Amino acid sequence: MPPLSVEFFAFANVNNTIRLREGQLRVRLSDLLEGAPETVLYAIAHILLAKIYRKPIERGHAARYRKYVHSHEIRNKAHLVRQVRGRKRMASARGRHYDLEEIFEDLNLRFFGGMQARPQMSWSQGRARNLLGHYDPAHNAIVISRIFDHSAIPRYAVEYIVYHEMLHLRHPVKLNGSRRCVHSPEFKAEEKLFPRLEAAQRFLRRL
Ligand SMILES: [Zn+2]
Repeated sequence: MPPLSVEFFAFANVNNTIRLREGQLRVRLSDLLEGAPETVLYAIAHILLAKIYRKPIERGHAARYRKYVHSHEIRNKAHLVRQVRGRKRMASARGRHYDLEEIFEDLNLRFFGGMQARPQMSWSQGRARNLLGHYDPAHNAIVISRIFDHSAIPRYAVEYIVYHEMLHLRHPVKLNGSRRCVHSPEFKAEEKLFPRLEAAQRFLRRL
C-alpha cells in the first residue's frame, strides 16, 4: 500500500478523485460529503480504490453511495454550490449605449421605491432576436439581448424590457395545475403601470 493522502476539496459538483503520483495515492473528496455517515465514506473509499486498481465495484457500496448523493440534502447543497462556484460567465452590464445597472436603479426608484434588490445585470453574449430578455432564478441574473444596446433603440424600449424582467423577479412562476403560469394576472396588472407600455410593445413588434 503506497502512502495515502486524503482531503476534502471544493469541487463545483459532488465529485471524488484518486490519483497515483510519484508513488503516492492522492484522494480528493467533494467537501459536500463532509459529515457523511461512515458507511458512505467507507463506500467511497471502496469505489475509489476499486477504480484505481481496476477491481470490480461491489454493488452494495455503489448503491449506498448513489443513494446518499441523490438524497435531497446533498442535491440541494450541490445546487447552491453550483450557483456560487460555477457562476455563468457574465458579460458586463455596461453596453455601448445603455448601462443596464443604471437603468435598473432608475426603474427601481421610479416604480419600486428603490426596494428591489438588484440581481446580476448583463447584456447577452450573442445577439438572439427571439429572446428579448430573461430572468434566470438559478443565477439571480437578468440578461437582456444585446441587439437592444444600439443607438436606434429608444431608451423607453430597453426600460420596458428590463421592467418586464424585474416583474418576473417579483412574481415567481407559479404552478397552475400542470401549466406554468408565467404572466399571472397580478403580473399583467403591474406591467400596465409602465407609462409607455403600448409604444414600447409596438416598437418591439416592428423589429
Ligand atoms: Zn415574461
